[in-house]
Amino acid sequence: MNDPGCLFCKIIAGDISADIVYETDRLLAFRDINPQAPTHVLIIPRRHVATINDIAEAAAEDEIGSLYAAAAHIAREEGIADDGYRVVMNCNEAAGQTVFHLHLHLLGGRDLGWPPG
Ligand code: AMP
Ligand code: ZN
Repeated sequence: MNDPGCLFCKIIAGDISADIVYETDRLLAFRDINPQAPTHVLIIPRRHVATINDIAEAAAEDEIGSLYAAAAHIAREEGIADDGYRVVMNCNEAAGQTVFHLHLHLLGGRDLGWPPG
């Protein structure tokens, strides 16, 4: 396991169950346990990278790019691609990051409003 103390690494390892909607050799996507919209999927790299601040040092740029391609794929499967959706990645406490394994939120299925609160 990447980081034995990390909740999302435990999901990747299969030690904690999740409602998985899509996966590739380098990422996993599963439904958020506390959804903020009709579609709320988390897309994570299989490799443990804690925050956006760590992407460059981890040389994870390509993996992060693949999260966005997966978001578009899942949005099409969920039927929200044409209406529109939002992808969000929080970094550290002031932005509300609570799980320190990088994850892209895919939100859609309702009018999301802008700017966010
Ligand atoms: P963030 O606040 O950006 O770090 O997002 C963490 C997200 O993980 C929150 O939206 C939580 O609802 C979600 N979450 C926490 N535990 C689980 C879990 N076991 N399965 C699925 N989603 C989870
Ligand atoms: Zn992790």
